[in-house]
Amino acid sequence: MTAASEKQETGAGEQPAWHALDPEEALRRLDADLEGLGAAEVARRLEVHGPNLQRPPRRRGRLARFASQFRNLLIYLLLAAALVTAALGHWIDTAVIVAVVLVNAVIGTIQEGKAESAMEAIRGLLSPEATVRRDDRRQTIDAAGLVPGDLLILEPGAKVTADVRLVSARGLAIDESALTGESVPVSKTIDPVPAQCGLGDRHSMAFAGTLVTTGEGLGVVVATGERTELGQVTEMLAEVETLTTPLLRHLDRLGRQLALMIVSTGALTALAGILLHGFSIVEMFMAAVGLAVAAIPEGLPAIVTITLALGVQRLASRNAIVRRLPAVETLGAVTVICSDKTGTLTRNEMTVQELLLADGLHVLHEEAAPSGEAAVALARAVALCSDAAVEPAGGERGRISGDPMEIALLALAESAGVDIEAYRSAHPRLDGIPFDSGHRYMATVNSDDKRRRLIVKGAPEAVVPRCERVLTGSGTAALDEAAWHRQAEHMAARGLRLLAVAERWLDDDSTAIHHGHGPDGLVLIGLVAIIDPPRDEAIAAVAACQRAGIEVKMITGDHAVTAAAIGRQLGLESDERGVTGDDLDALDDAGLREVARQRSVFARVSPAHKLRLVEALQADDEVVAMTGDGVNDAPALKRADVGVAMGRGGTDAARESAEIVLADDNFATIEAAVHEGRVIYDNIVKSILFILPTNAAQALLLVIAVLAGLMLPVTPVQILWVNMITAVTLALALAFEPPEDAIMARPPRRTNASLIPEGLGWRVIIVAVAMLIGTLGLFLRELADGRDLAEARTLAINTLVLFEVWYLFSARRLRESALNRSGLFGNRIVLLAGVAIIVAQLLFTYAPPMQLLFDTRALGSAEWLMAVLVSLPIIAVAEGHKAWQRRRGVGLSSGMGR
Ligand code: ATP
Repeated sequence: MTAASEKQETGAGEQPAWHALDPEEALRRLDADLEGLGAAEVARRLEVHGPNLQRPPRRRGRLARFASQFRNLLIYLLLAAALVTAALGHWIDTAVIVAVVLVNAVIGTIQEGKAESAMEAIRGLLSPEATVRRDDRRQTIDAAGLVPGDLLILEPGAKVTADVRLVSARGLAIDESALTGESVPVSKTIDPVPAQCGLGDRHSMAFAGTLVTTGEGLGVVVATGERTELGQVTEMLAEVETLTTPLLRHLDRLGRQLALMIVSTGALTALAGILLHGFSIVEMFMAAVGLAVAAIPEGLPAIVTITLALGVQRLASRNAIVRRLPAVETLGAVTVICSDKTGTLTRNEMTVQELLLADGLHVLHEEAAPSGEAAVALARAVALCSDAAVEPAGGERGRISGDPMEIALLALAESAGVDIEAYRSAHPRLDGIPFDSGHRYMATVNSDDKRRRLIVKGAPEAVVPRCERVLTGSGTAALDEAAWHRQAEHMAARGLRLLAVAERWLDDDSTAIHHGHGPDGLVLIGLVAIIDPPRDEAIAAVAACQRAGIEVKMITGDHAVTAAAIGRQLGLESDERGVTGDDLDALDDAGLREVARQRSVFARVSPAHKLRLVEALQADDEVVAMTGDGVNDAPALKRADVGVAMGRGGTDAARESAEIVLADDNFATIEAAVHEGRVIYDNIVKSILFILPTNAAQALLLVIAVLAGLMLPVTPVQILWVNMITAVTLALALAFEPPEDAIMARPPRRTNASLIPEGLGWRVIIVAVAMLIGTLGLFLRELADGRDLAEARTLAINTLVLFEVWYLFSARRLRESALNRSGLFGNRIVLLAGVAIIVAQLLFTYAPPMQLLFDTRALGSAEWLMAVLVSLPIIAVAEGHKAWQRRRGVGLSSGMGR
């Protein structure tokens, strides 16, 4: 080891200006070579340098989180109330209000912390990978295992996971916006640049955190972890996403408006009380405070956050990893899902079924291996023109790795008797054009006895027009292009994926091949037809989406006829051929909207078409989920309401632009995620519908009491107890509510619809009025019986809480009846919460410290019986309203839906 590398290893001393060194010098200083490090050396270096991890994003400290709980208008109001009660000498009230504010802040801090940890744990599931060359073999490893001296392979869409000095680069361009803010991708070369160059000009380097947009490259790792440029710019590190969503902001706004309204109503009521009934200012101040406290659902934001966070965890367990919290809400409202075909709707288990050669169609099966000169020529060509890797001899079966289609082609080559490794080493690759879904072919230049052979494979439309002749058993013959295209369509109509293979000798000296005036004058060897059947679960999921009023559109790079055939098998479309990218290009915006709405299979589309399709659908007010995997899919993923990236087959670029990542690349997971999104939203709505009647009943109770000149039936501190402790505990149980049966049988929710679905506002009012009558009635009866005020209030509060407990059972179902076994006992947490609250009420009523704090009195059994008898019928009231709505069909076809 050289002295310089020793210095580098210990991390001591200055880093050399890697960008100014020759690649060979960089390798030498890092004690590395082009074969890559060996396992033992990697382990040793990992020991010295530590894992390649960036410092975790800064997280808000617990104190900051605690402090943020006080940034709330309602809390200011409560603190003001505490000050005034203190000034008036109502010390117990002051203490209770302050205690409640503190308890609320502590609970909020803990809950938010939990929600943030949940999000962080989920993000941990997306740990980056790196493709390296080690021991002269390509390997995909966890990026944390990179060490200086490793050879990092850079491919389109990949995220660069350490700082590297490039040692080879072909058409390499990198998006460095994450590091330098420069949004245009930067071209990279291996030539040294002057040592004093700034980061943006170090064209011989690739930096951690940036994304490869095009081309290929190989770089030797010079810095890992916090020693990378990214690690140095700490302020660039993304903060943990704040836990806010449109819904939470909506609630926040609502809360503020409510608070203002309540303060004014409170003032007017107090004025009326003083003028009409001669109440004292102090009494009326307490009433106004009570009103403010009563009407605002204090616990709601916490409940929504927790429901969302729990939902994110459930989604992760179903293989859908949420990168951005608001997506959870949007998921439930999705109206169109645009999905890739290969691997998402289909199995991606590819097998070559047919070959079309000059002498006709060859149907392959186990006993019928490809034979004949043209078939062997084709097998040899695909063995060379392929990026699938073969593990060294002696390995096991299944030792071919790479793209499933290329694996199928290598299997074909093997069955035709080609020894792939031997053939590849006899014909090394000199140059190539990588596959790209824009031009739909790949090409390689291989040496063949002192000559050079160009091999091209790709979509027939991309390759056949570049051919002049066709290979026959005895040489070549003129090519009838139209006849080949006709035959290709026949094969495609059977749902087969097609690939044309062609070759030619290169006669000039240049090894470079370019797209523009590039491979033509080719000799067509033949067409390969590959079967990739739809996934069974995708067929079921498409049907489920259609029942749920969600349209599924297939967007693929495959042949229009193949795509339509697969589309038919999936139950998507009955047309003979899908709409092609060229068709889309010919349309104006209005035409595009029409086609986007009506058709479901889009074939031979490029990523730019995907973006246009999303925009056209959104212009029609659709809420669009769009899948993507390639680097060029990023704009469409960003534009979609829910961008869905593939976790296995996708590029880092796609993942970073998406809201959701599918761990299993499976369409059925998208359907499951939409289902889960609907459940989460439903549960939030259920919590809101559960909480609001209590608030409304309490507020009305106070207003009526003051206007009628009565004593307050409940005190502000008692109301705080109800809102902060009982209502929150009970409502939280709804976050665990299992889905209703019909959840995927109704159309998607309208995103602009109000928070409370149609018809359900009335339920809030009816239930609130029932609670009001029961509570006020018992309060007045107690007073009429000559009980003291504190005892009457204790009964009033207990009645109100019992109302809540019973109503919780009904609130578990928005529209379905809860009067059955699963409705009453289906959610164990609801039962537990009910029991917990009843125990809490007993303490509230009988425990001396609570009696002191809340001014409560012990109640007799007759009083309890009365409270139960009066409150229990709330179930009948709420269920009666549901039944009436069901009979009238309210909210089933509208309201919740479009
Ligand atoms: P989807 O967009 O649904 O994933 P896809 O995988 O068929 O569909 P692309 O990967 O863009 O879309 O492929 C389009 C066409 O390009 C294929 O139908 C095939 O003919 C050709 N093709 C795909 N992969 C390769 C490859 N590795 N080499 C050469 N040609 C390829």
